[in-house]
Amino acid sequence: MRLKGKTALITGGNSGIGLATARLFVAEGARVAITGRNRETLDAVVKELGTNVLAVQADATDPAALERAVAQTVERFGSLDIVFANAGIVGPTFVGKTSQEAFESILKTNVTGVFFTVQAAAEHLKAGASVILTSSVHSELGVPGYAAYAASKGALKAMVAVLASELAPRGIRVNAISPGATRTPIWDALAPNPEAYAKLEKGLSLTIPMGRLGEPEEIAKAVLFLASDDAAYVHGQDLFVDGGVNGAPGGTPLLRGPQ
Ligand code: NAP
Repeated sequence: MRLKGKTALITGGNSGIGLATARLFVAEGARVAITGRNRETLDAVVKELGTNVLAVQADATDPAALERAVAQTVERFGSLDIVFANAGIVGPTFVGKTSQEAFESILKTNVTGVFFTVQAAAEHLKAGASVILTSSVHSELGVPGYAAYAASKGALKAMVAVLASELAPRGIRVNAISPGATRTPIWDALAPNPEAYAKLEKGLSLTIPMGRLGEPEEIAKAVLFLASDDAAYVHGQDLFVDGGVNGAPGGTPLLRGPQ
């Protein structure tokens, strides 16, 4: 068990990548606090995973709610060793079609929310602690319509470098994970029914060297590595878990053509 005796806070732990990570962390011996806005799905995770999980309803855009979530975590489990600042949203922000509110809401959740998650947790973290931020392949891809989302994920990459410098003297590691397209509910708005989803998946798969979307469990395994002492000397990195999109863009089925 790689996380025995450790306590983790996972924002956005009631869905997708955060939920898969909560399941894996509990299986690896951790006590896990999850946050999200949706009470129903938060409660469902506690029902599934049991007393090693604490679910706190906390909006990532509200620093006071994040402070309360951290306080409840420490009160319940006695310590905090791992912070997975993962809650995030996506939405189209095409030039000429985007309101200030739509643009800023993505930055507020994905950037400001992540910073205040780390700030709320920081005073409780001791030497050996690990902080992981969820960035994305979009920090580098340049896909049309994703200005706010890509900017938010690029900001996290920059933030990792700063936080890694700032927290290194205290022995706290900070890294990012950058998933590629992963099969989670984040795609529901773009593909609200099975037919639309199949079409989306087929199109996306053509842009991924491994020819398929990632599974949330595959991202969770990489988060586990960064969270655990196996990554004791990994610091300030951005780990892409994306089927080769970032590392081998020339190998996508679209560019390879028929073999
Ligand atoms: P998801 O299933 O939609 O999960 C998003 C999570 O964030 C949910 O638990 C949601 O909970 C939480 N959340 C969103 N806004 C929040 C807020 N204001 N306050 C608190 N919690 C909030 O999507 P996912 O794919 O697992 O996304 C997790 C992270 O991975 C995100 O940062 C996303 O940008 C990133 N990512 C995803 C992909 C992908 O293809 N799936 C690729 C690269 C990066 P509530 O709705 O209950 O608030």
